[in-house]
Amino acid sequence: MSETIRLTGLERHFERGETAVRALRGLDLTIESGEFVALVGPSGSGKSTLLNLLGGLDRPSSGELWLDGVPLHTAGEKERTDHRRERVGFVFQSFNLLPRLTAVENVAVPLMLSGVGRAEREARAAELLQQVGLGHRLDHYPTELSGGEQQRTAVARALIHNPALILADEPTGNLDSETGAETMALLRDMNAQQGITLVVVTHDPDVAAYANRIVRLRDGAIAAIEGEVKVNGVGETAVARPASHNPGLRTADSIRSAFSNLRRRPVRNVLTAAGVLIGIITLVAMVSMGVGVQREVQRNFETMGLENIFVSPTYGETDEFDPFASPEPVAPITPDLVGRIAALDGVSSALPTLNLPSGIDLSLIWDGQPYSARSSNSFGSGQNFGPFNASEVMAGHGFETDNGRGVVLSNGFADDLLADGQTYDDLIDQSIQITVQLPRGETADFDTVIVGVRESFNSRVMDLGLEEREAIKTWWFDQPDILEREGYDMLTVRAASLGQVGQVADIIESFDLNAQTLEAILETANDVLSLLQALLGSVGGLALLVAALGVANTMMMAIYERTREIGVLKALGASRREIRTMFTIEAGLIGLIGGFFGLIFGTLLGRLVDWIAHRFLIAEGVTGVGQLSIVPLWLALGSLIFAALIGIVAGLYPAGRAAKLDPVTALRHE
Ligand code: ADP
Ligand code: MG
Repeated sequence: MSETIRLTGLERHFERGETAVRALRGLDLTIESGEFVALVGPSGSGKSTLLNLLGGLDRPSSGELWLDGVPLHTAGEKERTDHRRERVGFVFQSFNLLPRLTAVENVAVPLMLSGVGRAEREARAAELLQQVGLGHRLDHYPTELSGGEQQRTAVARALIHNPALILADEPTGNLDSETGAETMALLRDMNAQQGITLVVVTHDPDVAAYANRIVRLRDGAIAAIEGEVKVNGVGETAVARPASHNPGLRTADSIRSAFSNLRRRPVRNVLTAAGVLIGIITLVAMVSMGVGVQREVQRNFETMGLENIFVSPTYGETDEFDPFASPEPVAPITPDLVGRIAALDGVSSALPTLNLPSGIDLSLIWDGQPYSARSSNSFGSGQNFGPFNASEVMAGHGFETDNGRGVVLSNGFADDLLADGQTYDDLIDQSIQITVQLPRGETADFDTVIVGVRESFNSRVMDLGLEEREAIKTWWFDQPDILEREGYDMLTVRAASLGQVGQVADIIESFDLNAQTLEAILETANDVLSLLQALLGSVGGLALLVAALGVANTMMMAIYERTREIGVLKALGASRREIRTMFTIEAGLIGLIGGFFGLIFGTLLGRLVDWIAHRFLIAEGVTGVGQLSIVPLWLALGSLIFAALIGIVAGLYPAGRAAKLDPVTALRHE
């Protein structure tokens, strides 16, 4: 005969305010392996307290408690978890089946906690349910089972991992006498056939009568022991123990349970995930716009050529403030100066830019007919410089590389001028007149030729050559020497090679001019964009902080609602770490789900803003703009990981609380 349980001087005290409740007062008892013992006694006599100690759910205040040679009185958290997982099966008065799981899944939980694969554990569970007469109820949920069926399911769950010891606390307390008797018969058979040690708490004498020995407790002490030690199931006592290396709960099972648990409170969890979703939408939309705009700017700068140096005049400080005086440049960009710069070493070209007076009224005379027109932009000689302005030339040439002379028409404008059967090419080199009208009514005509047609969404737009601009401006202000005195508005200097850009810029600056290289402009643009992104990103970040609080709150509520289940899982052998992992995964999933939809909607929002921006730009006559909202892989993955991390971080504290719950208290939770 091998002893399974030995207690000596076992005490358990509870603090209750100032006074200590002595629930167990020095118990001495030995129970042999294979015995069937009933613990009886009035309410409050310490039966449950003793059972919880035997199950490793609680720790004694003093005394010794040996189980299978293991000192449970000194055992730490991990050893007590192993004890519950491997040696003990619990049967509770209120069944304590997990409501979201079917009968088969419930029975399989202890094996799941031992890392047994799903197919195997559910096959074994089904077999066991057959044995307890529930073969026809495998896929039923607890609410679909009668009390007796639930308790038989619970007994099957207690047996599935071949425990050495079954502890049942008033297993018939919630059953009528008939189903109670069935349950007791079932337990007795397990004890008789398999030699599993059975300790049943009851205050029903009929139930106690099934046992071979009855231990009577009164006020935390043993009042009497009745009956003889009888070891059942001898010869088969070699109970098959689970393998000692226990892999524990599998990650796949944690994730599956997390999903199943999330579905219990769909509305609440969807709302919580929506918080994350909103944050991620903001973040994804903002960052994608940032990435897209940055790329577009870069691309445009690159097509414009990094060899370009943009030269503008500097303006001196004036002593007195005169709102009507236009500022005088320190060194005007005169035609003479342009010539000197063009002749510099390392300069391949110098193209001046001249703005037309604002509010100028232009029209074209074609075939004796006037057509009102608009100059493409107030600045430039018609060169398509500046980001987002490169548009396709459809006939002739534009002013991209040459200031030249003549006029480039928008395709819409050209359409108006074409006779039947003519193409744009027929317009090239045709003479045409520009009529300019002063505000006071005087007009002047300028002869010119059509040199090109380019694509534009604006109909009556044309680009004027530098010569035309000079002529128009001179006439407009009636000052033949205006260029010599005021100079051009800007000069685009092209360095012969990239390496000479810096040196040429330095020389130009020594002429008291402003020299901007694209690199410098690009850097500034990037700085501004980065700042913008950081600002918008922090809005998204703030939204996510709020979302994190939502996740934490939801998890706290979930844990409160499921306190009892956590107690059950612990009794069945779930470790603290596993409980923590389960809830952390749940929180991470809320974040991930919010992040997933946030990513989708954020991408769509970026596209929408992109589309609106394009409509707007096209209405403004700006074409050739690429996609402004781009979601690169790093952004997609990053936002998903970030969202999951937010959930996980927000869930850390609640999950820690769940993990630390005392199983005895948790099991008592309503
Ligand atoms: P039984 O199961 O025999 O009805 P219990 O073992 O549950 O009795 O309780 C024995 C005594 O210990 C009772 O007086 C009870 O109030 C007290 N007790 C049990 N658990 C606690 C606890 N967690 N805190 C304080 N007192 C407790
Ligand atoms: Mg009790």
